[in-house]
Amino acid sequence: MTASPTVAIVGSGPVGSAYARVILESHPTARVVMFEAGPQLTEKPGESVRNIADPAEKARAREVSQGPQSGEHRETLGIPEGTVVEGMFTAREGTHLLDFGGSGSAHAPQFPAAAASTNVGGMGAHWTCATPRPTGSERVDFIDDAEWSRLIDDAERLLHVQSAAFADSAVGAAIRSLLAEEFASELPEGFGPSTLPVAGDPQPDGTVRWAGADVVLGPLVEASSPISERFTLRDLSLVRSIAHEGSRATGVVVEDLRTRETETLHADLVVVAADAFRTPQLLWASGVRPAALGRYLTEHPVVISTVALDAERMRRFSTDDDLAGELARRAANPVDPVAAVNRIPFSEPYHPFSLQVMYAEQPPFPLSADHPRAGNAWGYVNMGYGMRKRPRVEDGIVFSDSELDYRGMPNFTIEYALTPEEEAEIADGTAHLRRAGEALGEFIADPRLMPAGSSLHYQGTTRLGSTDDGTSVADPHSRVWGFDNLYVGGNGTIPTATTMNPTLMSVAIAVRGARDAAARLPGDRASGPSRPGEEAATGV
Ligand code: FAD
Repeated sequence: MTASPTVAIVGSGPVGSAYARVILESHPTARVVMFEAGPQLTEKPGESVRNIADPAEKARAREVSQGPQSGEHRETLGIPEGTVVEGMFTAREGTHLLDFGGSGSAHAPQFPAAAASTNVGGMGAHWTCATPRPTGSERVDFIDDAEWSRLIDDAERLLHVQSAAFADSAVGAAIRSLLAEEFASELPEGFGPSTLPVAGDPQPDGTVRWAGADVVLGPLVEASSPISERFTLRDLSLVRSIAHEGSRATGVVVEDLRTRETETLHADLVVVAADAFRTPQLLWASGVRPAALGRYLTEHPVVISTVALDAERMRRFSTDDDLAGELARRAANPVDPVAAVNRIPFSEPYHPFSLQVMYAEQPPFPLSADHPRAGNAWGYVNMGYGMRKRPRVEDGIVFSDSELDYRGMPNFTIEYALTPEEEAEIADGTAHLRRAGEALGEFIADPRLMPAGSSLHYQGTTRLGSTDDGTSVADPHSRVWGFDNLYVGGNGTIPTATTMNPTLMSVAIAVRGARDAAARLPGDRASGPSRPGEEAATGV
């Protein structure tokens, strides 16, 4: 090891970026090299594609993020010629199905909507930016409350979280009032309908500039900042394995997808933040195979619906002038259709689900002109309930030692089933969604359970644990059991059953891991404050 130690980070999403930022701000001489299998989409690395104003440019950025499903762009992304895609349905824009149905496709008949993004910024270039805090049993019980609060604060700063986004929207306030009439008497104080925190920076015109990995990286990608000299991002660089000897990771084996050349690069510490499927895949490919690797897969099953807002009900809490003001504000930013975002959070046992309510002028699907609710004056809400899936060893990834995927990595099968207890909770959540919809207006799409994997929030496959008892992959600081200097990051580290969007929680866990990692590197720690986003010795 040297006084200017090198950290290799695999994956450039919000979590890999949080590791890079915190390690470099906590350590005065460390260098970080970040490897990303996908292409860079925006001039500034990791920006949200939702901020791209030109529709054609936005569509292209989404398509090149779609790995094997990126159409005519496949070959320029280093995806082997002849990769055939036969997906029965396509994934959300900017993502690609793991089980796309062609040669080298993963096998996920029980989890068919499982998807990933392969681009600089990861899924964080495409996400909706909802950043609620986990509560109650969603939290990790072996991190004490005071530290957890500080970690969440740090994660909120890194992600530029606004807890009162669109709070000035009168239409949004009317939606909350109607939901409160229906539910407030059943909910504990502080857990009623509220605005959903989102990650982004409000602009003077009332719109939001959505956050991606770019804001997490912050000064690391500002050429004028001295800290940027210690950070290197390599896109189209696929890490094929982690080199290791005994209990130490020694580097990474990387293929440059432009030149097809493979090299082994030395590292003093390795962080794998390559999503909940590809992190365990890379560990498996490297011969790092704790018993819990890939197991305990959870997501939150999702039931969604669309409702046309009822004018009479909305007028009880807002006026036609409020609506006109809202529409004028929205017209100023036609590229971004999201306005007010509300929710009812998880509270146990009162409301063991999360409700998310997104207000939009148009429904997410075309309505025929003669539909009685087409062109609904007060607009629409897309609503979804997230329910719990308890971690079980039976659910998870089975890797193959003989079959390779389209990239030549160990292929896998996803095993997953809902238990009767979970089915009952989904039925209960669906009944709540029906009540919420009826309180607001008329359903134009009835509540329906989405196929497994639709949440895009996959958890547990590299879960943290307080002891090395075979039910976890990493210690409470995200260090892989049995290793001194190998860390995992991402939603896979979450060990609990959750109902909310997980990125804030994963970034909080990453901040803790990154501080632990920085403290293990040789050389003096930075003398200034090392909480991300605060004035630090490195000039932030
Ligand atoms: P990712 O962002 O998935 O990044 C992992 C990166 O690792 C990828 O870019 C991948 O290409 C790279 N990689 C994988 N394997 C290798 C390898 N071997 N070598 C090199 N690179 C590799 N979450 C929320 O909390 N709130 C939301 O509102 C929300 N909405 C979403 C909406 C959409 C449409 C999508 C797609 C996701 C949404 N999510 C949301 C999920 C959120 O984006 C993820 O939780 C978050 O991006 C996870 O960050 P990460 O850094 O762990 O992984």
